[in-house]
Amino acid sequence: MSRINVLPKNIAELIAAGEVVERPASVVKELVENSIDAGATTITVEIKNGGITYIRITDNGHGIFHEDVPKAFLSHATSKLTTADDLNEIFTLGFRGEALASVAAVSKVEILTKSPDESFGTSYSVAGGEELYYEQAGCPDGTTIVVRDIFFNTPARMKFLKRDVSEANAVADIVDKLAISHPEISFRFIRDGKQQLLTPGDSKLISAIYAVYGKEFSENLIETNYELDGIKVQGFVSKPINSRQSRSMQFFFLNGRYIKSRACTSSLENAYKNSIMIGKFPGCVLNITVPLYSVDVNVHPTKTEVRFSDERKVFSAVYYAVKTALDSIDSPAKLDVSPVAQKAALTGSQLHMVEKAPETKVSAESFKNPSFWSVQSSTEFKSQNIAQPKRENPFIKSEEEPDLIGNISEIRPKNDSSEVKTHSSDAETLLKESVHTSVVFEEKEDIPIKLIGEAFKTYIICEQNNKLYLIDKHAAHERIIFNKLKKQHSKEHSQILLSAVTVTFNKKDYGTVIENLDVFMQCGFLVEDFGQGMVVIRECPMLIDPADAEDVLVEIATNLSQHKIDTTADKIDMILHTSACKAAIKAGNKNSPAELEKLAKDVLSDENVRYCPHGRPVFIELTKYELEKQFGRIQ
Ligand code: ADP
Ligand code: MG
Repeated sequence: MSRINVLPKNIAELIAAGEVVERPASVVKELVENSIDAGATTITVEIKNGGITYIRITDNGHGIFHEDVPKAFLSHATSKLTTADDLNEIFTLGFRGEALASVAAVSKVEILTKSPDESFGTSYSVAGGEELYYEQAGCPDGTTIVVRDIFFNTPARMKFLKRDVSEANAVADIVDKLAISHPEISFRFIRDGKQQLLTPGDSKLISAIYAVYGKEFSENLIETNYELDGIKVQGFVSKPINSRQSRSMQFFFLNGRYIKSRACTSSLENAYKNSIMIGKFPGCVLNITVPLYSVDVNVHPTKTEVRFSDERKVFSAVYYAVKTALDSIDSPAKLDVSPVAQKAALTGSQLHMVEKAPETKVSAESFKNPSFWSVQSSTEFKSQNIAQPKRENPFIKSEEEPDLIGNISEIRPKNDSSEVKTHSSDAETLLKESVHTSVVFEEKEDIPIKLIGEAFKTYIICEQNNKLYLIDKHAAHERIIFNKLKKQHSKEHSQILLSAVTVTFNKKDYGTVIENLDVFMQCGFLVEDFGQGMVVIRECPMLIDPADAEDVLVEIATNLSQHKIDTTADKIDMILHTSACKAAIKAGNKNSPAELEKLAKDVLSDENVRYCPHGRPVFIELTKYELEKQFGRIQ
């Protein structure tokens, strides 16, 4: 029987250190958190060799009193807690008093620190837990800590470190997160002598995001600022169209602390349902602020896991914050007016200047070159875009129609303006108007739509209420069908196929289909197992052409096998998306002016048709005002 020994202090510290100090990135995290807690407004992080041989953190915070410096390196030494009650309301990032002791146990540390309340600073050093020197020193207010040779005395741990590059990337990742969680602090990150990051510290979250994650990410965000029962959710979420392949750009902060929370992630993603494609993920930088007493951060030494006293409330707050932000941009995309128009308004000498500017895409040559202005001829267009309809669709008309913008159909009388007429002495005209309106535009608001035509057999051009619209007919139709399918994907809305369709799958997809027969049923597909890799489709949703049933099923099976779609609700959404996409008219299809107009009317009168199920905008608008401004008609 072995006897029980109380471990000597240095071994106990080494073990405790393992909890906090895992790799250079965890050291950086702890030290920077100390700088933040010290009220610093500038923090510089410098590393060499991935931080394995050298880490230096400099801050301009309140420093440590000369007398307290050695104490700071003892375990459970902290200035942030005094009583057990304090644990209930932790407002600092640190509180365990373990970090400095742990770091000092496994590396060589030097600290230079000065409090503004003392006339001299302190220079102190400790290596492997042993004090090397403790002296007074002249230095500026604030603290600089240098950590060298992590795990020099614990070779076993050293082995677990990855290559310098991986360690350096992990450090960079931590600094990024710390920087966006504190936009009021200017962060500088230097890696092997090169500056990699500098945030302005202007207290604006968007400036910090721009500095850290760049132009592309920061320019495609929507702001949100929401409060629910004392829970605040502030920050930015990505536009549906800018969704990504992974969750790597989702950042949640709780009371200024970066956290990982599966529940927050799912609240976020639920809010994006139907706005983005399955298999794509939104990005976000969301700061959640809750009363200090309602959260327990004392769950794990790294403090990225937290416990909320009322989880559901927090998740609802995140969900509604995101939903509100998304609704706010459900207004249509704006058309970017071409620089040609701006340029054409310039005088000769201005034109000369513009020509010289390298960043101007439109050169004077463009004006001389006729092809710059010409629209593709219909034959040119056809040769590049053959996408003929392969089946009958109630929306597709078979007769030939003129291509491109030449296809003008004036459904309203010629003299009709886009404004609603309010005065007319002519009773007959009025009557005609009202009959016309009620027949062609049976919409709630009586704002007539004037169809101007169609461009590239893809975009419906129309005018309504002093606005010009370009509608992507496929995206619009797809969304409309999707919304309908969503409302009525039940047995009553399916049709029995005259001749059942047999589909053969590879073993993987076959397995997927068989596993999901009940989900198919819920979406209006009656599919039966035929054995040996085959299934039979007996019924499909009414909105789908029976001739497409096989294609739709194959596509759905592939989606189900390739993407991890867990919940039945997600599966149903994907099946409905795929069905809607198939049933919708396509770019390149021929449609009569009446069909186009009907579609335009359906789109513009329904607020739920703004994005296609993949998150692309359904239409773009240009107001008369913007157009007149561009043409210089108004200032
Ligand atoms: P904790 O942060 O949990 O209190 P640490 O071991 O990280 O524990 O730090 C111990 C103490 O040292 C802190 O409570 C703080 O008083 C002091 N300290 C550490 N780093 C700094 C710093 N950069 N500026 C001022 N004080 C610091
Ligand atoms: Mg700390």
